[in-house]
Amino acid sequence: MKVLVAEKCGFCPGVRNAIKLAEKTLAQEKEVYCLGPIIHNEDVVCRLSESGLKTIKSIEQIHSGTVLIRSHGATSKELDEIRRKSLKIVDATCVLVKRVQQIARKLNEEGYRAIIVGDKNHPEVMAVVGSAPDVRVVAGPEDLDNLRSNEKLGIICQTTQSPDYFAETVSAILKKGFSEVRIINTLCRETMARQEAAVKLCRQVDVMFVLGGLHSANTKKLEELCKKHNPQTFHLQNWEELDKRVLSGKTTAGVTAGASTPDWVIEDFVRHLQNYTPQP
Ligand code: SF4
Repeated sequence: MKVLVAEKCGFCPGVRNAIKLAEKTLAQEKEVYCLGPIIHNEDVVCRLSESGLKTIKSIEQIHSGTVLIRSHGATSKELDEIRRKSLKIVDATCVLVKRVQQIARKLNEEGYRAIIVGDKNHPEVMAVVGSAPDVRVVAGPEDLDNLRSNEKLGIICQTTQSPDYFAETVSAILKKGFSEVRIINTLCRETMARQEAAVKLCRQVDVMFVLGGLHSANTKKLEELCKKHNPQTFHLQNWEELDKRVLSGKTTAGVTAGASTPDWVIEDFVRHLQNYTPQP
């Protein structure tokens, strides 16, 4: 089968850095914990856990050792708790995620209520909410219904959302007539580049595969965007998950991958697909 791979896909610098820091820390320290899965990719989490990285849900679970803060970041409360217990911190928060947290704090200091456009349950968003005193998550304009029109709003965005979604939500917020609205673009360019490349590719192929963790926000966004342009789009974690029936009658496949999908998963998938002959 002919296989085309998106010009930009797979690991981003933030994820690469987090994994490198985890490996370095595991080589130096005995007890290493990560607050939540280091990235939203089971293959990577499994590999690092085999090397000794333990994933915990809460700081309450531990009393000693080193805590690795993942690329999505942690809340001020969690960081305070780690320091209170005198645990060692290795901070792998992506610099772009840190920037969003700093902007939220600055907006609050300047008298703005910070509004983050994104997914309430995503760890990056929860970390931003927990990093500044007054941050509200908005998934749509209805989330602003109980705000007064004289409020000063400072709007930021979860790094992995798409520019179109951010623009649509901002436009809907503006129509609500708030007296002052400040907009700061906090979208990640790495994510945007993956989205552009995926959309370009999915228009040229019979079937499109988006590789990545099922909980990975940026992978789900790639799937959503590709589906809009090519309904024959499928989100999988790896080759083993592929139902070969979807290849029937297809001659050209496209492959992209989220920012937390390792190269070996992409290469393995592409190799298998190239060697596969679909039923006519
Ligand atoms: S997707 Fe962007 S914001 Fe998220 S970790 Fe990667 S570089 Fe950082």
